Amino acid sequence: MKIHEYQAKEILKKFNVAVPKGKVAFSADEAVKIAQEEIGGDVWVVKAQIHAGGRGKGGGVKLAHSLDEVRELANQILGMTLVTHQTGPEGKIVKRLLIEQGMNIEKEFYVGITLDRAVSKNVVMVSTEGGVEIEKVAAESPEKIIKETIEPELGLQPFQARKLAFALGLSGTQHKNAVKFLTGLYNAYVHSDCSLAEINPLVLTKEGDVIALDAKMNFDDNALYRHQDIAAFRDLDEEAALEIEASKYNLNYIKLDGNVGCMVNGAGLAMATMDIIKLAGGEPANFLDVGGSANKETVANGFKIILSDPNVKAILINIFGGIVRCDRVAQGVIDATKEIHVSIPIVVRLEGTNAIEAGELLNESGLNFEVAKSLKDAAEKVTAVLRN
Ligand code: ADP
Ligand code: MG
Repeated sequence: MKIHEYQAKEILKKFNVAVPKGKVAFSADEAVKIAQEEIGGDVWVVKAQIHAGGRGKGGGVKLAHSLDEVRELANQILGMTLVTHQTGPEGKIVKRLLIEQGMNIEKEFYVGITLDRAVSKNVVMVSTEGGVEIEKVAAESPEKIIKETIEPELGLQPFQARKLAFALGLSGTQHKNAVKFLTGLYNAYVHSDCSLAEINPLVLTKEGDVIALDAKMNFDDNALYRHQDIAAFRDLDEEAALEIEASKYNLNYIKLDGNVGCMVNGAGLAMATMDIIKLAGGEPANFLDVGGSANKETVANGFKIILSDPNVKAILINIFGGIVRCDRVAQGVIDATKEIHVSIPIVVRLEGTNAIEAGELLNESGLNFEVAKSLKDAAEKVTAVLRN
């Protein structure tokens, strides 16, 4: 799960990570009130809150030097369609703002924590090249990213935090502040079951403070049950409508750009199905895992979700009947097809328990199914119908 910058900063504060004074606003009036009464000072930053980075370049982060300017910028940014390199060309409509204290920036750094799957350990990364796209730094000058791998039973050790702070070229009080920052950030990451915590930029202020100007936190969905407060941060406006619908039925659905809708049970089989569609010259329209123990209802719900995507021009159903019986799945597919009046070709491959009975049900249904004999056969059939 992803959250907004202002929400990430609320979490960070609880772990003693330094963040600027600020608060979320849903209207220009609220923005001015927050700037005047809760932040004070004479420089503010008005920041679009969307689940994507690159907002600054896209015109979603602006500096204000008066309360009138806060109002003007809030009016301008609220409701705008913000396009950044992470939103795709369609952009995202801004519905929330973060009104924040303007900081006196001396230097911008980068800090990120994520799981390094190659070594099954968390890794803390820092770079002096902050404020820019870190992917670019990683590609062009990887030596500028300094990493510390964390032993899970020990956590971030003080010597590691000190080493990272030195790598940023900090000494004295600034170094101390950076060590405190890194330690707090690591604690926030671990205790909140994050999959990513990224501060870009982390800044050194002219006053010597080390503070998070931006904050991105992603969470492991499987651990959200033990973080009700974080789960409550979910913003459905930021998620794809079909993915929300699928999550209601516990279906793992991810929309893709192709035109072959796939319904498969089991994530491994779903991946293999997408691969073989590509091999046969097609493009999958989605990843959909209806679960290893899929029943008639989950199949029907999955089917409806695939069909709600207007790009889908043909469907491939690939179910292995291990726990679930193939004839039950076939009946679910037949019922759903009748209910929704499907007009596009459907190729079905059912293998496993009662596969023969399932094939007979599909053939005798009077509906237009193509029954495939194998996974390869199914992929070839579904790409062939699209070519015709
Ligand atoms: P994004 O990464 O989406 O572009 P950031 O939060 O990183 O958004 O903001 C972009 C830039 O705006 C930062 O690199 C920083 O230079 C400036 N900025 C952001 N917040 C503040 C702030 N509170 N005070 C001063 N400058 C800021
Ligand atoms: Mg940023």
